[in-house]
Amino acid sequence: MGVVRFLLIVLLLAWVARILWRWWHVGRSPVAAPGAQTAQALCRCSRCGTLIPGDRALGQKERPYCSIACQEKGEP
Ligand SMILES: [Zn+2]
Repeated sequence: MGVVRFLLIVLLLAWVARILWRWWHVGRSPVAAPGAQTAQALCRCSRCGTLIPGDRALGQKERPYCSIACQEKGEP
């Protein structure tokens, strides 16, 4: 009986943790996502011209690249 009770408590805690985790993420994401997107500067790949978020750009700030392939080819 002790094992069953222990398993039930563990399952209950996991369930509560999952609900709290979802609630925390749903509560935060609508606020964080638009703000992050508008605040984040887009830059254009020096090779193919694709718009990329600043923090995802490869290479230097003056010459950002969208991918390793573009970075290896360099500027056209
Ligand atoms: Zn590119």
